[in-house]
Amino acid sequence: MLIKTILNNCHKFKSFIYGKAYFTEDEGRQVLNVEILPRKNAKCICSNCHKPAPGYDRLEERRFEFIPVWGFPVFFIYRMRRVECSTCGIRVEEVPWAYGKHHQTKAYMQFLAHWARKLSWKEVAESFQTTWPKIFHAVKYIVEWGLTHRELSGITAIGIDELQWHKGHEYLTLVYQINSEAIRLLWVGKDRTVKTLLRFFRFLGKERSKELKFVCSDMWKPYVKVIKKKANEAIHILDRFHIVAKINKAIDEVRAEEYRRMERDGYEPLLKHSRWCLLKRKKNLTEKQEVKLKELLNYNLKSVRSYLLKEDFNGLWDYVSPTWAGKFLDRWCTRVMRSKIEPMKSVAKTIRKHKELILNWFKAKKAFSCGIVEGLNNKVKVTM
Ligand SMILES: [Zn+2]
Repeated sequence: MLIKTILNNCHKFKSFIYGKAYFTEDEGRQVLNVEILPRKNAKCICSNCHKPAPGYDRLEERRFEFIPVWGFPVFFIYRMRRVECSTCGIRVEEVPWAYGKHHQTKAYMQFLAHWARKLSWKEVAESFQTTWPKIFHAVKYIVEWGLTHRELSGITAIGIDELQWHKGHEYLTLVYQINSEAIRLLWVGKDRTVKTLLRFFRFLGKERSKELKFVCSDMWKPYVKVIKKKANEAIHILDRFHIVAKINKAIDEVRAEEYRRMERDGYEPLLKHSRWCLLKRKKNLTEKQEVKLKELLNYNLKSVRSYLLKEDFNGLWDYVSPTWAGKFLDRWCTRVMRSKIEPMKSVAKTIRKHKELILNWFKAKKAFSCGIVEGLNNKVKVTM
């Protein structure tokens, strides 16, 4: 069976036909190319007004990435025509398989976005030999497409999260709707600056922003700032997951420093292989880690003391009343400030500074613990 026959079965156009298919080598891999040609006597369409227009000239060959097959990346090869439109002037024609200047075909973007809902973006990138930016573009396009075709009312709870990508040098901001009846990705934006989040609120619009009752985010300053400005009637809840992550980061610092110091001073390497014992939740420890932790607890080490402070902190989430939770937080912070453990002290300072926002979690009756968002982001899954 010819490649052409298969394509005509699944991806046929009215005004275009498939030409020859051939392999080329691209960065050391075999790539399958499929030529596309305009059908004879079919009219060109102006990309601006979507009406037929006479042809003007043809541009250089362009490649459009299509769904890979049998391990081969697939590209459509087409020379775009320009039209001379009586209303718009000289314009590039519109083609049914791609959108605007996108180098990915619509079908491929849908394909990637579909898998990005089921797997982590990293897994999608690996599985289909593609890159993060491509998945980002695909998801962004599909999310935007979906939103222009979907109801946007009734959004009263959103979660804002950041995602590190591009080897950790760059960030994306993701905004989810987290109403219990509708959990979906609403918006993706590059970076995690004030401007990024302002773009989201512009997209959401003034009216809909006013309807927000709960906004969930981490303690990232630009987010806190924009939420205060743009959704000040909503209860802003700090993401529990991120607070714990901050404490864990401090413990990691304390442990690394203490490990080096003990080694330098010629002590027994007690802290060797202890990292995860101290960072993981007790119930998630392996048997070996449990033994190690028990051993460590016998020593008066800064790492151990930090660990115990973290374990105590988890008691916070059991409170029901915001007032009592607040008292607990105060006591905890005071203890940490007396501990003389610098990284932990700096966490306590941050927590004090954001106390009101943390207590909002209790005011929201734990309804929007961001547990939903945590779950999504742990695997960097994207739900639409
Ligand atoms: Zn036109």
